[in-house]
Amino acid sequence: MIKANYVWFNGELIKFDEAKIHMLTHTLHYGLGVFEGIRCYETKKGPAIFRNYEHIERLFHSAHICYMKIPFSKEEIRKAIHETIKANGFRNCYIRPIAFYSSGAMGLNPLNNKVDVAIICWEWGAYLGEEGLNKGIRCKVSSFNRHHVNVSMTKAKVCGNYVNSQLAKIEALLEGYDEALMLDVDGYVTEGSGENIFVVRKGVIKTPPATGILEGITRDTVIRLIKDLSLEFKEERITRDEVYIADEIFLTGTAAEITPVREVDRRVIGDGMPGPITKKLQDLYFKVVRGEIDKYEHWLDYVK
Ligand SMILES: *Cc1c(COP(=O)(O)O)cnc(C)c1O
Repeated sequence: MIKANYVWFNGELIKFDEAKIHMLTHTLHYGLGVFEGIRCYETKKGPAIFRNYEHIERLFHSAHICYMKIPFSKEEIRKAIHETIKANGFRNCYIRPIAFYSSGAMGLNPLNNKVDVAIICWEWGAYLGEEGLNKGIRCKVSSFNRHHVNVSMTKAKVCGNYVNSQLAKIEALLEGYDEALMLDVDGYVTEGSGENIFVVRKGVIKTPPATGILEGITRDTVIRLIKDLSLEFKEERITRDEVYIADEIFLTGTAAEITPVREVDRRVIGDGMPGPITKKLQDLYFKVVRGEIDKYEHWLDYVK
């Protein structure tokens, strides 16, 4: 059970146990809400939110795509995130801002309803498990395709988009896998149910272009690290068979961090354990988010 002391709701901190909403909340019925997933890590200078500005910017972009007006400024949301973490006394936590249409009118037009904004945070360990992080996970190519770019807005973190992700995730879990890999309608590999994908073959690291995928901030971080390490990198379409014969595969996301993949559709990937490039990037990523490398300290927003 997720537990916290306080939740931020429309400008004030309220008790976690009292953070309740009406059953006619428009977004509950129709899914037009936008959210973010952010992490705060303990560093030697205190807790720091990783790439907070970029996450808040994406929240506003998601809203913009959905015709939604968030009734707070970016800076107000940023301050509210700090306030919520401090009120709960967390040192390491996951942060979930969400903007959604409140109750009032029903029917598919949400625009006459008020936009509510909440920020919830809680202590959350490795999303795909501590063992997954260390030894790698098993994935299944989903029978569900990732949204076509003109069916759902793939660059927005919209609540309703995650029905597709959940179908894929549930299917993978029921079949004994840890995570789903989703193909686009043309059959090219896009991403996991909530993580971007990187594939390594013969020393070259590849990730699909940011067309039909969610433009992950972790993806962007990893690309920066790859470039700074002068590793060979390509942003290119990836086929399903290319995944099977990869030397290494890893998934990236704020929740999943950098999680190695050791098997896809009962084909062992590489040696069946996290490869050297994956381990190197994972190691570096954890140092970066924990403020251990000065060069990347500008990505940290210290909790004040
Ligand atoms: C949030 C999300 C990601 C990861 O994005 P980050 O910014 O790295 O957390 C990847 N894919 C999907 C579908 C997502 O919703």
